[in-house]
Amino acid sequence: MKVNNVSLERVVGRIDQLPTNELVEIAFAGRSNVGKSSLINTLISRKALARTSGQPGKTQTINFYNVEDKVYFVDLPGYGYAKVSKKERDRWGNFIETYIKSSKQLKLILLLVDIRHKPSEQDKMMYNWILYLGYTPLVVATKMDKLKRSQIQKHIKILKEELNATKDTVFIPFSSHTKQGKEELWGQIDAHIEV
Ligand code: GDP
Repeated sequence: MKVNNVSLERVVGRIDQLPTNELVEIAFAGRSNVGKSSLINTLISRKALARTSGQPGKTQTINFYNVEDKVYFVDLPGYGYAKVSKKERDRWGNFIETYIKSSKQLKLILLLVDIRHKPSEQDKMMYNWILYLGYTPLVVATKMDKLKRSQIQKHIKILKEELNATKDTVFIPFSSHTKQGKEELWGQIDAHIEV
């Protein structure tokens, strides 16, 4: 999709504010600092529309970006802050679960993981949780520019094994710095918008 018009249409902090949208929704999940805002900004060719996680704990909102009046990019709050209390974590889980279960328009959930590292326990939980909620996550392996070309497939294999990924889970290596993976990712997203 060629993107000219994007706006942050809605910032939702509470379950009772979740919208009922007409357009297809594509959600983005991942631990904080994994490169989620950079990836969203890369997809929509903006420098800094999507927030970056400068303020841990202060970004527990679900942000809806209207992209070309065709699709919403739904930026889910990042996980994995060390300092978050159990109460806040529970609230986060409940909020995201309610969104995923109640959205009629959510077609695809992207789970971002860092290509360099083994997935964290929370990444594994998130992967399984998305499956449990009835979606097959599309795993985006971020920061591929940090690895040598020859290492990429090996690391994807490790991610697949560690996540115990289902056969139909698609993995896409991606870099916001070099824009590698951008077209492939848009291909996947477009396929969900058209159905
Ligand atoms: P978020 O917390 O998941 O939204 O992560 P950000 O997009 O704010 O990125 C976190 C950090 O990782 C920042 O310092 C980014 O510059 C860096 N980063 C994000 N994407 C990439 C990438 O593709 N390659 C490299 N090398 N660094 C990246």
